Amino acid sequence: MRATVTVGLAAASLMLAGLAQSAGAETGPAAAQKVAPKAVAKAGNVDAARLLAAGSDNQNWLITGRTYADQRFSPLKQINTATVGKLGLAWHHEFDTDRGQEATPLEIDGVLYTTTTWSKVFAFDARTGKLLWSFDPKVDKARGFKACCDVVNRGVAVWKGKVYVAALDGRLIALDAKTGKTAWSTVTVDQSKPYTITGAPRIVKGKVLIGNGGSEYGVRGYLSAYDAVTGKLAWRFYTTPNPEGKADGAPSDKVLAGVARPTWGGGVPASGGGGTVWESITYDPELNLVYFGAGNGSPWNAQNRSDGHSDNLFLSSIIAVNADTGAYVWHYQATPDDTWDYDATQHIMLATLTIDGAPRKVLMQANKNGFFYVIDRATGHLISAKNYVPTTWASSIDIKTGRPVANEDARYRDAPALVTPAPYGGHNWQPMAFDPTQGLVFIPAMEAPYGYAKDPAFKTRDGAWNSGLDMALGALPSDKAQMAAMKAMLKGELIAWDPIKQAARWTTPHDSFWNAGVMATAGGLVFQGDAEGKFVAYDSRTGKALWSYDVGEGVIAGASTYSIGGQQYVAIMTGYGGAAPLAAHWALPDRPRQNGRLMVFKIGGADTAPAYVKFTAPKLDLAKVATPGDAKAGLLAFHANCSVCHSGSASGRYLPNLRNSPMITVPEAFKAVVLDGSLKDYGMIGFSKWLSPKDSEDIRAYIVDEARQAQAAKD
Ligand code: CA
Repeated sequence: MRATVTVGLAAASLMLAGLAQSAGAETGPAAAQKVAPKAVAKAGNVDAARLLAAGSDNQNWLITGRTYADQRFSPLKQINTATVGKLGLAWHHEFDTDRGQEATPLEIDGVLYTTTTWSKVFAFDARTGKLLWSFDPKVDKARGFKACCDVVNRGVAVWKGKVYVAALDGRLIALDAKTGKTAWSTVTVDQSKPYTITGAPRIVKGKVLIGNGGSEYGVRGYLSAYDAVTGKLAWRFYTTPNPEGKADGAPSDKVLAGVARPTWGGGVPASGGGGTVWESITYDPELNLVYFGAGNGSPWNAQNRSDGHSDNLFLSSIIAVNADTGAYVWHYQATPDDTWDYDATQHIMLATLTIDGAPRKVLMQANKNGFFYVIDRATGHLISAKNYVPTTWASSIDIKTGRPVANEDARYRDAPALVTPAPYGGHNWQPMAFDPTQGLVFIPAMEAPYGYAKDPAFKTRDGAWNSGLDMALGALPSDKAQMAAMKAMLKGELIAWDPIKQAARWTTPHDSFWNAGVMATAGGLVFQGDAEGKFVAYDSRTGKALWSYDVGEGVIAGASTYSIGGQQYVAIMTGYGGAAPLAAHWALPDRPRQNGRLMVFKIGGADTAPAYVKFTAPKLDLAKVATPGDAKAGLLAFHANCSVCHSGSASGRYLPNLRNSPMITVPEAFKAVVLDGSLKDYGMIGFSKWLSPKDSEDIRAYIVDEARQAQAAKD
């Protein structure tokens, strides 16, 4: 506390003297190398030494996980269990996009950098909220169709005067940190394929690391490293063997040929097999290793992928490679022969834990498959694994072999199976946090089952969603009690997990199952937003809510915190979206889409954000609507094509509420949207490649039926 106050006074006096703030780290070991104050702070002044010392740079939040260890723990404690009650809004900014906001804002020497949906970048004065510049990569909105889980972006990386953002369409773009002007831009994917990028780039030793998504549609996953100055590709590591059987001329060639290819039974699907690296990338400077997670198999159903029992490396695996060359070092496969969409892309966090009396360098992951893994990060050796939520696909993990003790019935080969966790995961992309003073990992967790059934008629559809599942199982029951029972099965919670004991110390339940990422501080607090639109500070010792703020909109992003002039700030992006609000809106708070906001808090903050204007659409007149379509056939076609974005039984309200859309009352208008793509500039492309005019009319008949039932239920 004392150090913070001292630094605060020093910074305040510097500002009074008109010298602006120091460009260097201000407390801890780095203070000794403090850079002399400059007349004008250099924008984006981040180098290797500064990133390596980020842990003791209390004032700033330099990279997405705050430090390379990705613990998302700040030593700041002006906002603490005693003062948090006085936390108020310091400033806010409303954006021009109204879907999921997933970015963690960075703060560097008084400038806050963040991103929104559609990969837009914004730089603000972190103290006042004044917009300094913004950048719109102008992503073709039709690309939105290729984003399984919303058109989100999880933030930027900053390095030596540049800000790096990866756009949804696969471009990696370097911007001038001072002006937002493009320095270089390079395409990192084959844009003719259904690749997207939603993750934040990471900078390691002058290289920009970035992966991509698309496993739900059918692509081949990889992680790339680009030279931060020139934008030239340095290395690329593929997570699945080349489907054509040839070498890629990449550092992954040898291990794919020798280790991975034999685990693909009937071969790698032509579309690539999946394994996309769409979120976590973590760097260990001591071991010079980069760790990343590979996503689910493509198609989801393993029977459509590899012809029987085989592991399909490196799907659903954590992989360690040399940071300079991308050369393979080790891997750990969490879900062999994945058939449930169990990506291993969740937050990978590094720590040193005392296990059996000895310090161990570990990495930790609360995997989508419901198990919490503690792994020796030098060797990839599994130290321990325990389920943090109920798991029905496997009862435990065999520590000797590292393999799950699996329940074969859960593989839905012969009969449908209700399996926990759901494809949403026991934990998804939402960042965790680790409080090293208490030895606790805070997990934004979910308990949710999912009905898996194979699609016996499955055939790969080029460029479309390809799960291999009978998605008609997602149709909702009309019975109210059944709906209530289904809702009750979906639970969200914040778990404080002891990774040494592999047990929860406390669990705080949420009202809904899809909530926000987490940040912890030395003030004894854990910050987390929720589906209901609350931003909450919990006591990290007990899980008790100490402070709550109604942001008026659901929150999914993780917060960050920084200090300027002795004042601590907490920044959070609000804006609900992502996989669950698209595909399962029926289970979540009934709220229309609203513009995202950046909300920044401080002790005594007195700003207020205007209430959102609530728009209630008039009731659709369905009295004269007639259709020759077959609603039963429409149910099947809807769930095979539309439900992942418009929710089961057209119950979605985000993209948009089809049960109340005037489009369903006019056959020509409906066909123009569904087949001809008249709304492609809003992300709704035409489906004529996959649907016939009869399919379209059947779908319309089905939605009209659902709309009539919904109206009757309300009347
Ligand atoms: Ca996935």
